[in-house]
Amino acid sequence: MNTSQVKKVVIAGGGTAGWMAAAALSKLLGKNLDITLVESDEISTIGVGEATIPPLLTFHKLLGIKEQDFMLATQATFKLGIEFENWRNGQDKYIHSFGAVGRDCWACGFQHFWRKGHDLGISGDYGQYCLELEAAKANKFAHLKQPVVRYAYHINATLYAKFLRQFSEKLGVKRIEGKIEKIENNDHSGMIESLELASGQQIQGDLFIDCTGFRGLLIEQNLHAGYEDWSHWLPCDSAVAVQTKATSDPIPYTRSIAHKAGWQWRIPLQSRVGNGLVYCSRYYSEQQATQSLLENIDGDTLTDPLHIKFRTGQRRKHWSKNCVALGLSAGFIEPLESTSIHLIQRGILRLIQLFPTNGINAADSEEFNRQTNLETQSIRDFIILHYHVNERQDSRFWRYCRDMSIPDTLAHRIELFKEGGRFFHEGDELFGEFSWTQVMLGQGIMPRSYHPIVDLMSANELKAFLDNIRTPIKQALDAMPLHHQYIQRYCKTD
Ligand code: FAD
Repeated sequence: MNTSQVKKVVIAGGGTAGWMAAAALSKLLGKNLDITLVESDEISTIGVGEATIPPLLTFHKLLGIKEQDFMLATQATFKLGIEFENWRNGQDKYIHSFGAVGRDCWACGFQHFWRKGHDLGISGDYGQYCLELEAAKANKFAHLKQPVVRYAYHINATLYAKFLRQFSEKLGVKRIEGKIEKIENNDHSGMIESLELASGQQIQGDLFIDCTGFRGLLIEQNLHAGYEDWSHWLPCDSAVAVQTKATSDPIPYTRSIAHKAGWQWRIPLQSRVGNGLVYCSRYYSEQQATQSLLENIDGDTLTDPLHIKFRTGQRRKHWSKNCVALGLSAGFIEPLESTSIHLIQRGILRLIQLFPTNGINAADSEEFNRQTNLETQSIRDFIILHYHVNERQDSRFWRYCRDMSIPDTLAHRIELFKEGGRFFHEGDELFGEFSWTQVMLGQGIMPRSYHPIVDLMSANELKAFLDNIRTPIKQALDAMPLHHQYIQRYCKTD
């Protein structure tokens, strides 16, 4: 235990993680803290990370950020979910939307009612009972009061960091440009005392937040927190990214298209598209991946292909001594379900909840690490599900994913769903029953049976129940404008 008060916070790194941390700490705890952010113009940010998930709205609400200002500043579009193409057998499509699907009861989820209706030939596609999913398919969007539409954004990551920088500097965050070359630790406690820049400037602090990206300058290179490697389950280790001019109006969902040794993303912003291919270097060379990506994009390229290497996994300790890792320095699962920015947000809010005002102590950091670990592992399992449950016969990569051993926690969830369509949400985990069900059904797992409570309804009653869910969805959809028309009106500059 170090009983000296934590007053001076130093954030190392100015990518999405660094500026999100600066913005939140300055807004929510700022008056009592002295916050400095160090970033180097010589070392660029990762430059990708443009698809988000709905909890980002909560983050912005906490910070008092107005949605229209944020969308204008980041060229954002709305996102209602992700369309997965060719993931199951190479010729399929399904959407994992952010919305609620159907209506459930205390004993079981909506999929049980849908499953029986499917046997009787009276159910539509599972997704037809979800407004967000139907709106995505129809390229529509609106903020509705009833039913509420659950959504996130596609953003320009570089502009987002700039936007948050302005926000933070107005709240008193000091920015120092310079390359960190040395880190000084206390001989006795091992805690970090200061960062030394190439210019010789020393930056002292009580608490350090490592946002230096994959290099993990403080948490790994200095404190050796260790890394839990998940590449057995998540074997993709490379990406190539390129931006293109938009050739059509932006759609309100991310596209994720499976390729022979990975998958391609398409993220539509207001006037350009972010594209990339995530792949496994055991099965695709850099040249094959680049060619495969460039053959599958629309519109003129705006940037040269950017190549990125990574290792899926997480830091063994996200908080070690007086250093907390956020963003890529804390680990990287995979961009498939756009969870990295969310994990940054969770890390920041958790740090605020456990803020060590009266000194660094082991109980706080252990709790931080315990909660982060649980949350990250359940996201990891959800991502593995997409890869593992496939019927693709066309490549060694997909065969590997199907045959690999998976975590027991995931194997249990798959079995439970296969047998009786059951799913149980645990604690604070991010993805709930609607998400898991959409992906399990989308990947081809049809539950063998359904809950007996469904049989309390006659076939006619079940049909009326199912039809009654679809009616308000159709009505809401008819009243919604096209996504791009809505954005044009909503994000007007004057
Ligand atoms: P970086 O952006 O790498 O920033 C590191 C910062 O540290 C920079 O400012 C740099 O100057 C500074 N720095 C480093 N070393 C020094 C030094 N010695 N001295 C001073 N400063 C230093 N996330 C999502 O949520 N959605 C997505 O769709 C998504 N897609 C992704 C696709 C790919 C292929 C990858 C690899 C990641 C994706 N992510 C996504 C993750 C997302 O990009 C990151 O979580 C996010 O950008 C945060 O990055 P960061 O700030 O941790 O690191």
